[in-house]
Amino acid sequence: MGEKELKCPQCGKSGIARILWGYPADMQSIEEELERKEIVLGGCLVTDHDPTWECNECNHRWGEREEW
Ligand SMILES: [Zn+2]
Repeated sequence: MGEKELKCPQCGKSGIARILWGYPADMQSIEEELERKEIVLGGCLVTDHDPTWECNECNHRWGEREEW
């Protein structure tokens, strides 16, 4: 399975970041992804229905959280 290009269902832009829930043990390992807006931090409140993706353009959030 290859990487498919994600687009925001709300505004159609492709600047999409994966939401990282909880606090990473090693911030340095994700620093580059954070700078490239490939990852955003979702915070420490984790529920069963957290979205997976956030649009960098309109901040729309969607999708289901996956274990990773
Ligand atoms: Zn959007």
